[in-house]
Amino acid sequence: MAQAVESNIVSYAQIADGARTAAETGDRIEWVKVSLIFLPLATPVSDAKVLTGRQKPLTEIAFIFAEISTRDGFQGIGFGYSKRAGGLGMYAHAKELAPNLIGEDPNDISRIFTKLLWAGASMGRSGMTTQAIAPFDIALWGLKARRAHLPLAKLLGAQRDSVQCYNTSGGYLHTPLDQVLRNVAISRESGIGGIKLKVGQPDLAIDIERVGAARNLLGHDFPLMVDANQQWDRQKATRACRAFENVDLTWIEEPLDAYDFEGHAQLAARFDTAIATGEMLTSAGEHAQLIMAEGSDFIQPDAPRVGGITPFLEIMALGAFKGRKLAPHFAMEIHLHLAAAYPIEPWLEHFEWLGPMFNEQMQLKDGRMHVSDRPGLGYSLSEQAIAWRADFEEFGKHP
Ligand SMILES: [Mg+2]
Repeated sequence: MAQAVESNIVSYAQIADGARTAAETGDRIEWVKVSLIFLPLATPVSDAKVLTGRQKPLTEIAFIFAEISTRDGFQGIGFGYSKRAGGLGMYAHAKELAPNLIGEDPNDISRIFTKLLWAGASMGRSGMTTQAIAPFDIALWGLKARRAHLPLAKLLGAQRDSVQCYNTSGGYLHTPLDQVLRNVAISRESGIGGIKLKVGQPDLAIDIERVGAARNLLGHDFPLMVDANQQWDRQKATRACRAFENVDLTWIEEPLDAYDFEGHAQLAARFDTAIATGEMLTSAGEHAQLIMAEGSDFIQPDAPRVGGITPFLEIMALGAFKGRKLAPHFAMEIHLHLAAAYPIEPWLEHFEWLGPMFNEQMQLKDGRMHVSDRPGLGYSLSEQAIAWRADFEEFGKHP
């Protein structure tokens, strides 16, 4: 018996026979290109932050793309973004970081993340510092998955091949109610899995009327969410959560300031309706504080905002350990892969905005977004994206 067991064991000596050492197999980053692209929006977009006068309507989004090539011929592409101010600063900081990648082994993503974090440590470990790292980190994860001939979801270890998907553009605050109801009907007929409406009108009664009308149209089973974009104080948020308690909402998003973890926790404890927040946080550490404060039922990390996929995976591990549901913010092209790997059934936020920047289309069917067979992240820059490019800089030598 002992002999039979022994014969099934492959010894390390056998594995090592003919294998190369880690140093020998290690690839090298030889070229990095950093680009600034301004994506125009067809219609200026307003949420509650505009109604309260804190922000102007959104007319364009700044994207920072990183393209990476290695000695062995592998490529990766990743991006970060800024809505309104910040894109130019992030682009400048990303260009400062880029030379740190040349000569590094692209497989050692954790090491590179730490190196880039320390390069800008004087600026802090959240905010623009982490967001400028994200394009590189995301490109490296995509590159690693392409090297393995796997979609990123499979490289990470997928729980599912598709993720339920909701339309986030069901009704902005500037959209008249009859148009909101038309959008809601069109969305449902197009096969979306859920619909989110913006709330946070100066008069709460108007929010209640709009959400109630959408609920009546959809019936009680169809997933419906609302998003207040941080514009209520604790008293108004409490009144709103109470008013919405019988509307069967899947969640109430950002009822309070993004950093009021305690206030969110009080709402989550007090009401049956789930509380969702986290899209504005810019590091794994901030998300850890939110999760440990019991601040939300749904966590909403955004990989480009927290610094990339490396910190997002840390947030996923803690979120799953603490039983949180996951509904990542924006950038569905990246988050589809991450949500597919989360142990608790997640939601994907559907934005059409980024579509024109990529050659590939996402596959939405029966209310779910499907992971494609394409290796890596599965997208490449379109000619339109390159036409929108405002500037770029290259580092190292193109292989
Ligand atoms: Mg939101």
